[in-house]
Amino acid sequence: MDAPRRVAIIGAGPAGLFTAAALLAQAGDDLAIDIFDRLPTPFGLLRYGVAPDHASIKSVATTLARVFEAPHVRFLGLVECGRDVTPTQLRDAYDAVVYAVGASDDRHLGIPGEDLPGSRSARQFVAWYSGHPDAEPQPLAGVRNAVVVGVGNVAVDVARILLKDPADLSATDMPDAVLAELRSAQVEHVWLVGRRGPEHAAFTTPELRELLDTPRIGVTLTGADPASIDLDALERHARANVAAIAAALAEPAIDPVRWLHLVFWHRPAELLGLGQVQGVLLEPTGPRPAYGGFVVPADLVLRSIGYRGVPLPGVPFDNGRIPNLEGRVLELDGSARPGEYAVGWVKRGPVGLIGSNKKDAAETAACVVEDFEFLPRRPLADLDSELAARGIRPSTLADWRRIDAAEIDRGAIRGRERTKIEAWHDLLDLVGNS
Ligand code: NAP
Repeated sequence: MDAPRRVAIIGAGPAGLFTAAALLAQAGDDLAIDIFDRLPTPFGLLRYGVAPDHASIKSVATTLARVFEAPHVRFLGLVECGRDVTPTQLRDAYDAVVYAVGASDDRHLGIPGEDLPGSRSARQFVAWYSGHPDAEPQPLAGVRNAVVVGVGNVAVDVARILLKDPADLSATDMPDAVLAELRSAQVEHVWLVGRRGPEHAAFTTPELRELLDTPRIGVTLTGADPASIDLDALERHARANVAAIAAALAEPAIDPVRWLHLVFWHRPAELLGLGQVQGVLLEPTGPRPAYGGFVVPADLVLRSIGYRGVPLPGVPFDNGRIPNLEGRVLELDGSARPGEYAVGWVKRGPVGLIGSNKKDAAETAACVVEDFEFLPRRPLADLDSELAARGIRPSTLADWRRIDAAEIDRGAIRGRERTKIEAWHDLLDLVGNS
């Protein structure tokens, strides 16, 4: 019998793990799968992007973790594609290479003042409250007014975390330092700014409703009037979004302690401030603006206008994605690159929920399995030895299990299910070969 085909999956986030699961389901016994990640922890955005108070989505990790129980699946952490291993080395060592690296950068507004202290990306903010080891601290001292630019689900997440009573977050897996910062914060107003109308917003209705239902917040609306929107002309989810906003305005909270200000048909024209952001000049974007705009006070601006893919050296990249046909990587001129595949955000762009990766992964996995029918077998390089010779020792599944257990222990002391370990040195202390 032929040796199993060797597949490398680059990125152990939901897209990568759903692909591993789909490969196992489609051709399990004939495959040996190595799943690489630059972190010693699997689950990518499930661990470091899904909000800590969305525990039910996070529980998908339990299902995804099952792929590691299969006999020919390995987890190789602390190996970064492009730094520790090149795509060329991967191609030489595997029959198929699947890029599942996501979109790790964020878009920029390109307006004056964007780089003022106090102006940050929502991506950084999410990484911080999720306990990502690369996240920078996000001090909230002195922040009373926060402006969130963009009206997608990430904007909704960061607005909710800022507006929620920190006591309601204390059962989550947030690192202690994050909870302490949120507890001492005095945020009073969060402005959520959309450049189009509520009927065009990218957020999904359950997420919007959850934000609007945050206990003890008042909601205001500027720039749009739900009563003047033709609901019949809208798709179901847009109609539900507009209705949710109208309902929140119709039933104001009693005794609000914080405020959510929804602003539509406006875009930030400039961030204002001397040495620190102090305000945002919002200008109207509608077809016939009647005025020049207005300034909202802001001690913190979170840019939440979408993620952006980062190219891998030597792998085609166009418009934030790896060009591909149903997951098969293509050269920029559209010709084939046999043996290379893309999945998840780097395949289809930074849109979609965690579950969207399941179908996407099944499509890419089907291409991998189909191509094995005719891809000739060739001698493969021994990447394990190459890495060892260069002093690179990947972390293992056992290391992750140790981190996992330590986080559960940390949580138990505090009466929580888990408390994230956010410091690199603590994570590396738990990695056996450090
Ligand atoms: P997104 O859904 O693409 O939303 C981006 C927002 O930024 C849109 O409102 C967009 O407005 C706006 N925007 C883009 N460029 C802008 C500019 N130059 N100036 C002003 N506004 C600008 O992206 P996301 O919020 O980063 O979310 C990424 C994906 O993850 C989405 O599919 C989202 O649903 C998913 N996600 C899901 C959850 C959840 O289920 N709870 C949580 C987080 C993220 P336009 O529409 O006008 O372009």
